[in-house]
Amino acid sequence: MSNKPKIWLSSPHMGGKEQEFVKEAFETNWIAPLGPHVNAFEQDLCNYTGAKHAAALSSGTAAIHLALILLGVGKGDKVLCQSMTFSATANPIVYQGATPVFIDSEEETWNMSPEHLEEAIVSIMKEGEKPKAIIPVHLYGMPAKMKEILEIGKKYDIPVIEDAAEALGASISGKKCGTFGIMNILSFNGNKIITTSGGGALLSDNEKFIEKARFLATQARDDAPHYQHSEIGYNYRLSNVLAGIGRGQMQVLDDRVSQRRKVFDFYKNYFDEKNKNKGYNVRFQTEPEGFFSNRWLTAVFIDPEKNKGVNREKLRLSLEKENIEARPLWKPMHLQPVFKGTDFYGDGTSEKLFDDGLCLPSGSNLTHDDLERIKAALDEIFV
Ligand SMILES: *Cc1c(COP(=O)(O)O)cnc(C)c1O
Repeated sequence: MSNKPKIWLSSPHMGGKEQEFVKEAFETNWIAPLGPHVNAFEQDLCNYTGAKHAAALSSGTAAIHLALILLGVGKGDKVLCQSMTFSATANPIVYQGATPVFIDSEEETWNMSPEHLEEAIVSIMKEGEKPKAIIPVHLYGMPAKMKEILEIGKKYDIPVIEDAAEALGASISGKKCGTFGIMNILSFNGNKIITTSGGGALLSDNEKFIEKARFLATQARDDAPHYQHSEIGYNYRLSNVLAGIGRGQMQVLDDRVSQRRKVFDFYKNYFDEKNKNKGYNVRFQTEPEGFFSNRWLTAVFIDPEKNKGVNREKLRLSLEKENIEARPLWKPMHLQPVFKGTDFYGDGTSEKLFDDGLCLPSGSNLTHDDLERIKAALDEIFV
């Protein structure tokens, strides 16, 4: 094992103003799950994405949970969910007593296949049921095929919740991710493109949804001098201290996107040369016309049969030996033990992606020396 410092997959990268905002929260004693930074951070999110309304929350998972509650998803309902994602996309469906139905990926963006989505809807409706919501994900910052997915949602009258946890700063034809669905969610967890250490947001153009989300997220307190409740509430609001970090992070978001895209270009150039001159065939998520990924994580797809027997595990272990972190793609939800027996519509694309895909270090704070170390480790394998 190398004794050089660890190169992380993705680590927090502060901009500079965060501590000033946090200090202000201390000086004004706004150490609460509400306050001026929360309001300003919500405004920043709206200004940046173009969403009309935003509620800052304690996590992206909480945002998905509230979106499902607001759509009335409950016991016995079915929700169509991208299979290739982090478990946080699917878990809130189960919190509501509803059942996820998992949808495979398509090969270009690696996100929800519109074809299999429609197949699932038709099949469920034949049984006399109607799915309650569709949750596509923008995997590693690459937008899903939202035009097609929204058209299907419209055709069958099923609302779309966009899981944009990984995709703040990404867009399709200039329209930002986080603004396509009826409600949309972001995450500011520690490894995301910007972070508040932990946090999330629910975005919507519908003010009623966001007002209700704020109400439910603060324990559903009725308007009364005493504590009175007519509904079950949650403790899901973002702290004013953490929102201060978020305000600082928003100031550098566009820099972070361009830094991550530069890291992607580094890998792309490296493997283009290997593919062209050394007979390898390493592939990436590709941006369809008009798509703009924030390249939160760069992931490679290495089919061992087309890469002289090199597989993702061999590559992962050889990077690990140099103290460089790399990680397989999200294991599809329909393959997870906890979701065993759940319905799935697909053709094996996400399974293949999981078998042969690897996320490479992609932080916006990678140094020139880090990239040189990564290159040297890759050169050990791609000879
Ligand atoms: C990170 C993430 C979430 C959950 O966000 P948290 O803030 O960690 O709760 C949801 N979906 C996807 C795709 C994510 O990557």
